[in-house]
Amino acid sequence: MRGFHDVLPPQSERFHRIERNLCTVLDSYNYVEIRTPIAERAELFARSLGEATDIVEKEMYTFEDRDGTMLTLRPECTASVVRAAIEGGLAGRDRVAKLYYLGPMFRRERPQKGRLRQFHQIGVEVLGREDALADAEVVALLMDCLAAAGLRDVKLLLNSLGDATCRPGYRTALEAFGRAHEAELCETCKLRLERNPLRLLDCKEESCRALMVDAPRLREHLCDECRTHFNDVERLLTAAGIEFTVDPTLVRGLDYYVRTAFEVIAPGLGAQNAVGGGGRYDGLVAALGGAPIGGVGFAIGLERLLMSAGSTGEDATPEMCVIPLTEAAAASALQLARALRGAGARCELETAGRSVKSAMRRADKLGVRFALLIGDAEIEAGRATVRDMQRQADHPLAIGFDVDGLTTAAAIRALGEGEARGC
Ligand code: AMP
Repeated sequence: MRGFHDVLPPQSERFHRIERNLCTVLDSYNYVEIRTPIAERAELFARSLGEATDIVEKEMYTFEDRDGTMLTLRPECTASVVRAAIEGGLAGRDRVAKLYYLGPMFRRERPQKGRLRQFHQIGVEVLGREDALADAEVVALLMDCLAAAGLRDVKLLLNSLGDATCRPGYRTALEAFGRAHEAELCETCKLRLERNPLRLLDCKEESCRALMVDAPRLREHLCDECRTHFNDVERLLTAAGIEFTVDPTLVRGLDYYVRTAFEVIAPGLGAQNAVGGGGRYDGLVAALGGAPIGGVGFAIGLERLLMSAGSTGEDATPEMCVIPLTEAAAASALQLARALRGAGARCELETAGRSVKSAMRRADKLGVRFALLIGDAEIEAGRATVRDMQRQADHPLAIGFDVDGLTTAAAIRALGEGEARGC
């Protein structure tokens, strides 16, 4: 199906590894996970993202449930997290929530490299903080996540979108500029001029981009509070050694952003080069029925992260492989494999009754260092033969079937490190 992909091994392993790396960073920042449903009432997104956004206008998967309720597959997760936090009483005036989420999002976009209809995001939301330090820390977290995923040479773009005090004035100025140049705008921008003039700034058409170079700058229209906030964010990021470029055309696709907006672009992604982005959304919690508290967050696209990060370590191979050479050896092999797994070894258990030759071929193919063979002689002796696949030699190691797995796994690993401890 166009834009809907299976994630097959070893790609699925890479997903898993990158998610684990990112979760370690999120833990260190003291975030906790939230899981929200994949489907929400359609109106949640219309109310939060804005009616005149690309997502709400043409990209949502919305369908009627049997009882007439309109449901939407979530196109992003901020609205869901805010809804859930309000309903669950997680955030309030004196209660800060630091939440992260991970999972599939759905947008009916035109699929291309790095743009899918079902894609995965990992993101964070801080609810209940209005200060610039919260923005700077969230940006720092984003950069640390990208670094943990192995991304290099990324570029952080930063802007301020103003707020309800100063943005309307800017919007009017931008609209006037657009009207004066209407004939030169692309067809989409002519519509944007009517519905959402701010989006004129992030048109990808070359002619519109050239025109917008001379458009009024939001920075010059910021009210005092927004200017101070932006200056503070810049100062804190600079002090933290985080490099950024102020991009006055960065407006982001969703209406709920105020003040800080940011995006990270990464090499090797082609036209869809944003790997993550986010910003501040102070009015959103109240708009969805919660307390008048601020919020700030980001989302990273996992597919693009993987595309840009390239290899992030070895693909998983089992460490050991237990091979029952006869049907009679199956039970002992199962027992031994479980003991080793209990000791943390990634252990494969092979089909019983293969010839030694074909069993060895399998072990080779699996890439294991050690094969533990159990045949009639081993059952008799009550111990497995440890074959070192690299050295093509057997170790006279006592591997009983009912031994404690920790000792056994450690002894086998020690063989690999060249410290053979014999029986
Ligand atoms: P957004 O929610 O639009 O701010 O997107 C945050 C991140 O999600 C982007 O920087 C991308 O990395 C990723 N993303 C957004 N839309 C798609 C898509 N259609 N396919 C793949 N990744 C996407």
